[in-house]
Amino acid sequence: MAAKKTVDVTAAPGASAVSTARGGVADTAPEQLAVRPGEDPWTPEEVAEAKAELEGEVARIHAELTASETALTGLMRDSGDGAGHDEADTGTKNITREHEMALAANARATLEQTEHALQRLDAGTYGLCEVCGKPIGKARMQAFPRATLCVEDKQKQERRG
Ligand SMILES: [Zn+2]
Repeated sequence: MAAKKTVDVTAAPGASAVSTARGGVADTAPEQLAVRPGEDPWTPEEVAEAKAELEGEVARIHAELTASETALTGLMRDSGDGAGHDEADTGTKNITREHEMALAANARATLEQTEHALQRLDAGTYGLCEVCGKPIGKARMQAFPRATLCVEDKQKQERRG
């Protein structure tokens, strides 16, 4: 009866948090991802959600780019044989092609950002500002899963234009 106090203390001291960490969903332990002071740590579900959203985005943009390339190929072919088209028609086609190319460039940039975000998720640097190294904030990452800058640095960047 007198030994009751010491019984619990003998439980293995080092094996506390390690055992439950493996959920099998994410590569990175969610609690390692950065949050702002006052925010709750990432849960495995939230990480899986962010990852699924980013992966869905990658698939969507790939499809978009394929469609865009098909459209561009058609537009290039159409404008290739200039004979037979009047000037206004050619002008319209050029605008369409430029518009299509701008869309594709945009999609490609978004794709890069999305893949970059996935890499950061795997590397465990997801949610850290790439300029100042401080946490971007979980709420912001959930609103903008591709964000690489904290609000302050994003605003500075936009001001520089
Ligand atoms: Zn920053």
